[in-house]
Amino acid sequence: MLQQTRVDTVVPFYERFVSTFPTFEALAGASLRSVLKVWENLGYYSRARNLHKAAHVIVHEMNGEFPSSMKDLRNLPGIGPYIAAAISSIAFGQVVPAVDGNVKRVLARVFFIQDPSDDKDVKQQIQDIANVLVPKHDSGAFNQAVMELGAMICRPRNPRCRECPINKSCEAFDHGAQDSLPVLLKRHPIPHKEMTAGIMFNQKRQLLVVQRPNHGLLGGLWKFPGGERMEGDKDLAHTLRRSIREETGIHVRVGKTLHSVKHTYTHFRITLFAFQCSRRSGVPIPLDCQDVLWVKVGDLGQLPMSKADRKIWELL
Ligand code: SF4
Repeated sequence: MLQQTRVDTVVPFYERFVSTFPTFEALAGASLRSVLKVWENLGYYSRARNLHKAAHVIVHEMNGEFPSSMKDLRNLPGIGPYIAAAISSIAFGQVVPAVDGNVKRVLARVFFIQDPSDDKDVKQQIQDIANVLVPKHDSGAFNQAVMELGAMICRPRNPRCRECPINKSCEAFDHGAQDSLPVLLKRHPIPHKEMTAGIMFNQKRQLLVVQRPNHGLLGGLWKFPGGERMEGDKDLAHTLRRSIREETGIHVRVGKTLHSVKHTYTHFRITLFAFQCSRRSGVPIPLDCQDVLWVKVGDLGQLPMSKADRKIWELL
């Protein structure tokens, strides 16, 4: 949960998640829909899907025992080198360094590394330094201490060097270069996408929603039908007609714009435009989506949806 997300945001989600699924068996036995619903609004939904899959692996392939070694941890879905190192050192006392963004920044400054820290060789150099530094005893406490130092003292901007307990060993501080390190490769501006959503009722006053495929950023969540504006789309109404046809096979008439909302993900920004829509022909079936559903308005809250779709619904 803490990947890319601050502790104070995570705490209420964590408490809700653990009280809903208190054991691996409870999590493995739950439907993906209910797991995504409890996760709703925390973002990065692949984490929820991976936790669900990992619970399955633990229950069905590991006799319900959570693994303690780096190697076995890496076999669980969603656990990369950093998380595996953090768990095995903090929870099981294994001697491995956990190198996250905070740790990379601290080491790049202390060891005065002037090459871009997202370069492959520099990443390896930082990992090698961490491998040497991690102590044989209490490596978990050491890892947490360096992470905390990075979060509280050696901050990305305005590091608090005078209060820093290791400032006497810090080369960047010695050179007065702490503000210009670490060096990062130039980032491209994040792209913006125009997205469309069709708000469409049937004669029973039920709304059409579709479920995204089970992969990707928002995989498994439900949304209003529609998609991204592509080159060649004359306007947003064209985008909406085309994407609903591709997703569900039906032809629609696009009415007035109802609302628009903006949302920012890590690698792109979107503006989601919601239009009134009505069905011209066809019966919706899942083509470029996992499932389609006509849902009563009162039941919409039970489906896990992304923040942008939920915001549109709240505005409506
Ligand atoms: S002295 Fe400054 S730059 Fe060096 S580790 Fe401490 S806070 Fe970071």
